Amino acid sequence: MSGGDNLEFEIRPNPAPVADAERAALLANPGFGRIFTDHMVTIRYADGKGWYEPRVEARAPIPMDPASAVLHYAQEIFEGLKAYTLPDGGVAMFRPDANAARFAQSAQRMAMPQLPVETFLQSLREIISIDRAWLPPGDEGSLYLRPFAYASEVFLGVRPSMEYLYLVIASPVGPYFSGGVKPVSVWVTPDYTRAAPGGTGAAKCGGNYAAGLSAQAEAIEHGCDQVVYLDAVERKYIDELGGMNVFFVLDDGTLVTPPLTGTILPGITRDSVIKLAERAGRRVEERPVSLDEWRTGAASGAIREAFACGTAAVITPIGSVKSAGGGFTIADGGTGEVTADLRKQLVDIQRGRAEDPFGWVHRVL
Ligand SMILES: *Cc1c(COP(=O)(O)O)cnc(C)c1O
Repeated sequence: MSGGDNLEFEIRPNPAPVADAERAALLANPGFGRIFTDHMVTIRYADGKGWYEPRVEARAPIPMDPASAVLHYAQEIFEGLKAYTLPDGGVAMFRPDANAARFAQSAQRMAMPQLPVETFLQSLREIISIDRAWLPPGDEGSLYLRPFAYASEVFLGVRPSMEYLYLVIASPVGPYFSGGVKPVSVWVTPDYTRAAPGGTGAAKCGGNYAAGLSAQAEAIEHGCDQVVYLDAVERKYIDELGGMNVFFVLDDGTLVTPPLTGTILPGITRDSVIKLAERAGRRVEERPVSLDEWRTGAASGAIREAFACGTAAVITPIGSVKSAGGGFTIADGGTGEVTADLRKQLVDIQRGRAEDPFGWVHRVL
């Protein structure tokens, strides 16, 4: 099986799935990332052998040797995307091909083997099909899919692992904002940076998150919901949040977002917002925005709105900013018009309620 193209998955249904009544109770209030479906996908990799043993099986703990490379050297990458119930009762994923491409780029940065795009997509279709009953009822929830891979070779030593395990788990999630979209407050950390040029900022790897937990804790200590990072070189320009990209709306309606220079995670929501805005004739600038520009722009009205975006929350308005140099509010601290409009457009496409001009919605069932 060279390269792992067109792998045939072995399906081993869970012999003891969660009972219907219990599943219905769990799905009534799933929250985020708390409950999981009955199955998982696993595919193994070994140097010289390629990807092998693709399986759909009961979700279960993974036996792990204490010398597994990932536990010591953190060779691990992941993805996150959602499957939605369509108005006709079918199920679709949003831009899974983009997640597949990014997973391959993350693998390359972390010196890991690349899973073929078609195998990645097939693995998602497999888990959605077998765990379809776990899609939350109604038109607000979704099934969050978490593909990931890690170094599973048993050894101590600094070199790329020669064995890997790829998995997909799935988690039903409710609306991110129960009770409507609420603007968040953000803390601009003076102490920590997320990514430096040449580092791993553009790779979706667990290590980036581990390094950001202290900064997020600092944000909470300052009474804020989320952390914002400045660039690591000049400590002047806005990079992104801990797990979301950022946009600014100028008074003439122009959207501005920091450019992808390798220190920012290339978000698929970010890309979708840019494409939707441009299609509607809105100007979009990818350029650095300093904290000073944000502060003075918010005061003068030159920056009218700001929002964060990512798969989990889609689009989140930013209401207020705190930093070592003081705090400020964006407009009245509420949800801006452009932010709300972009959010609605994107969510409607994702859920199959609006035309899909870019072919983003991939029907599975
Ligand atoms: C995943 C992620 C994002 C958002 O990417 P989406 O593809 O839009 O979900 C933004 N920043 C970081 C650091 C991320 O890990």
